[in-house]
Amino acid sequence: MRPVIAVSGLRKTYGSGDTAVHALRGVDLDVMPGEYVAIMGASGSGKSTLLNMLGCLDVPTAGEYELDGFPVSELNERQLSLLRNRKIGFIFQSFNLVPRTSALSNVELPLIYAGLRRAARRERALAALEMVGLSDRAKHLPSELSGGQQQRVAVARALVTGPAMLLADEPTGNLDRASTAEVLGVFDRLNALGRTVVVITHEDEVAAHAHRVIRVSDGVIVSDLLAGVA
Ligand code: ADP
Ligand code: MG
Repeated sequence: MRPVIAVSGLRKTYGSGDTAVHALRGVDLDVMPGEYVAIMGASGSGKSTLLNMLGCLDVPTAGEYELDGFPVSELNERQLSLLRNRKIGFIFQSFNLVPRTSALSNVELPLIYAGLRRAARRERALAALEMVGLSDRAKHLPSELSGGQQQRVAVARALVTGPAMLLADEPTGNLDRASTAEVLGVFDRLNALGRTVVVITHEDEVAAHAHRVIRVSDGVIVSDLLAGVA
């Protein structure tokens, strides 16, 4: 099996000279299809920087990254944006839904960019909403949904294109306990169905759902453990 994520010697330095910040100082990481990985670390340890690299949202200063077999550093801007759209479903702390637009239309949006016709879009978006347990809220506006439901719509939007992995940055950071449990339940279910899930979090409760916990400190991986292994 080919890794979804294959990273070696990844470095990211912001700025230069005396004021340079070495946010990543040599990260090696492989993630296989079907894994459920939590990336943890204190504030400022480099988690978001790593997510930006894994999500092809920013370019590393050094190192190699293959996303589902594609060498990211060799691609131009257009190829990179295609790869990002095809391979990654992003989920952020702020749900980033389009207001005054139904849950269904929000989930359909990536399929418009992908060039699908209306009937096919609708069918796939409804299936994605069903996966997150929100079939009965398809016509609701984001403002008519709880935080947990809004984030589940965002998860449906992330998975509707059938990406190689879901990449989430503090997905429960804005949620109360009940909503956090809802969203984590959805991640569990998606992973059980074979989806690769990578979650960046500083919450133990979130990490407890993952099967593999990676800890980042000061720009390097300091531990990488399978769940249940002390
Ligand atoms: P985390 O997400 O774990 O809180 P970040 O990846 O956001 O950590 O930040 C890692 C380090 O890089 C921090 O010292 C932060 O101040 C610095 N940093 C992050 N983004 C930038 C940027 N755009 N410019 C300069 N420094 C940055
Ligand atoms: Mg961060």
